[in-house]
Amino acid sequence: MTRTRKPVVEVRRSQRRRRTVSAYRDGERVVVLIPDRFSRAEETEWVERMLARLAAREERIRRTDDELLSRARRLTHRYLADHARHVQPASVRWVTNQNGRWGSCTPDDGTIRISHRIQEMPDWVIDYVLLHELSHLVVPSHNAHFWELVNRYPKAERARGYLEGISAATGLVLADD
Ligand SMILES: [Zn+2]
Repeated sequence: MTRTRKPVVEVRRSQRRRRTVSAYRDGERVVVLIPDRFSRAEETEWVERMLARLAAREERIRRTDDELLSRARRLTHRYLADHARHVQPASVRWVTNQNGRWGSCTPDDGTIRISHRIQEMPDWVIDYVLLHELSHLVVPSHNAHFWELVNRYPKAERARGYLEGISAATGLVLADD
């Protein structure tokens, strides 16, 4: 993850605003709009909060299909180099219509879809889900050989735990298929 340097913040107080706070980027600056009645402490707290929210939104935008494909290439090179001949996905895309799955792969046509639900998760979780789907291009089923490939990823176990935790917390039953 790249860290952008701290932006210049301009706080604008408005008497019309009662509770709502909003923020937007204006070139190098970030403008934060707050209600006039906010104390200094509230201002500081909300500026921090809005900067974090803005950074998260920008990080999400950065995670494009192109970025996902180059991530797939990097992972293949690093963990599946001995199967590189088979691991040549026709497409790797973020999708929003995938209910109940973190990712999916159709080995027949070489397409991989990754759920937007993991788009804001840490890089190492996205890498795990992606490597899982890439490994299906070598082994379609979840057999021992398949897990041998997936477990080459050092944080595989940790990522599975993370995803299980999210499933439990949200009440969703999400297979990692
Ligand atoms: Zn699977």
